[in-house]
Amino acid sequence: MTNDLTRLTADALATKLAAGDISSVEATQAHLDRIAAVEGAVHAFLHVASDSALAEAADIDRRRAAGEQLHPLAGVPIAIKDVIVTKGMPTTSGSKILEGWVPPYDATVMTKLRAAGLVSLGKTNMDEFAMGSSTEHSAYGPTHNPWDLERIPGGSGGGSAAAVAAFEAPFALGSDTGGSIRQPAHVTGTVGLKPTYGGVSRYGAIALASSLDQIGPVSRTVLDSALLHDVIGGHDPRDSTSLTDVWPSFAEAVRNADVAGLRIGVIKELQGDGFQPGVMERFREALALLEGAGAIITEVELPSVEHAIAAYYLIMPAEASSNLAKFDSVRFGLRVNPKGGGTVEDVMSATREQGFGAETKRRIILGTYALSAGYYDAYYGSAQKVRTLVQRDFAAAFANADVLVSPTAPTTAFKLGEKTGDPLSMYLNDIATIPANLAGIPGISVPAGLAAEDGLPVGIQFLAPAREDARLYGVAAALEALLEEKWGHTLLSQAPDLSSSEMNATDEGAV
Ligand code: GLN
Repeated sequence: MTNDLTRLTADALATKLAAGDISSVEATQAHLDRIAAVEGAVHAFLHVASDSALAEAADIDRRRAAGEQLHPLAGVPIAIKDVIVTKGMPTTSGSKILEGWVPPYDATVMTKLRAAGLVSLGKTNMDEFAMGSSTEHSAYGPTHNPWDLERIPGGSGGGSAAAVAAFEAPFALGSDTGGSIRQPAHVTGTVGLKPTYGGVSRYGAIALASSLDQIGPVSRTVLDSALLHDVIGGHDPRDSTSLTDVWPSFAEAVRNADVAGLRIGVIKELQGDGFQPGVMERFREALALLEGAGAIITEVELPSVEHAIAAYYLIMPAEASSNLAKFDSVRFGLRVNPKGGGTVEDVMSATREQGFGAETKRRIILGTYALSAGYYDAYYGSAQKVRTLVQRDFAAAFANADVLVSPTAPTTAFKLGEKTGDPLSMYLNDIATIPANLAGIPGISVPAGLAAEDGLPVGIQFLAPAREDARLYGVAAALEALLEEKWGHTLLSQAPDLSSSEMNATDEGAV
């Protein structure tokens, strides 16, 4: 049976907590019960921190009872993508090589969550080191899409999105290097925002590709993402790429949402060929609603976007090959001793052989090759040039439009196993999300409804110039309101309930 508290948004939980209608222990227990009921089917979590979550919740309840002035979100539960380093909680980044590692420190975003009194439910599943679009590259078994358990929940942050869509957590943290927040949001009917590069500290986020990675929120409503972003954003001297900007309140941007006169540029290259008809149908419908609300719809061109995937899949592996070199069997996690002993190098190579999965190895080899003497200019150098062209295209497009728009991904959730044998077709799924990472600009995916042909969620993506994250929250909130008015309900209220017993225990990789 569905527990009512798990159906509430983070904002609604916060209101009830502040009013004393519910305790944080009740809210936390409700989510832990929901996790226990559906995890056998969904497998969104790699680690459920029941004891520490209940202790954190009890502490918030005590402080509230003592009359302490608390952050508005204090006592609200949250799920954390396993790429984020958490003191006292195992952190694997979806890899065997980090199995059993319990970090001695917190990422800055965790420090901020703890300071605001949010309750950490646990760590969510992901593709190993955030490389993938389906969570199938997790060393701990895939996550299943709550809308259809045979399908992927997106990736790399499929665990966070599935946890939120399955009402296991009201919101979650994700990370986005080429779409890992937005594409899982698209396929699970959730909201996901990749902030402007430098907007949220990356200190303590296990690095995949440092010039592309950003941490951001995943939630069921635009307001909840904004509330979470308000907590985690802002300058951090421990991250040298962190912007020193003073950011506006994103929750305020949601509350003042208005699209009258807003120029929305439809990206010509990200529609049509290769995009599923049902996805395009929901996309056009959303645009018509926005136009009806006073937005001005125009078309923009980003000619370099056709080379974005090729450039990304050189830059990303190049940076990853360097970042992953620290997993050497000495400093963290797994150590495999070859039979009969061996040199330090033998130990390192045996550990990497067993500790890294196939996709990680593929990208390390690709990246190392792209950076090698004699090939550097031809591969890495050319990719960086394409990156500059993509940035210029965006600058030109934003001269004529306040925000840009496209479907978040070409198709709805594909079947588990459908693309694992064909890395290229997996990579092509990122066509619409990667350009924003190359340009360092913010992007949000908002649910736009269900595709007619398969009844699966479709997301619409808005992009804004760097530092204009607030603009994205405004347009996304406006669209969310227009669609919910049209439907008469939220999208996720239509998702399968999952708590019936026959759904359970389909996954060999359960917690
Ligand atoms: N799917 C992309 C990749 O495989 C994006 C990953 C991410 O954003 N972390 O690299």
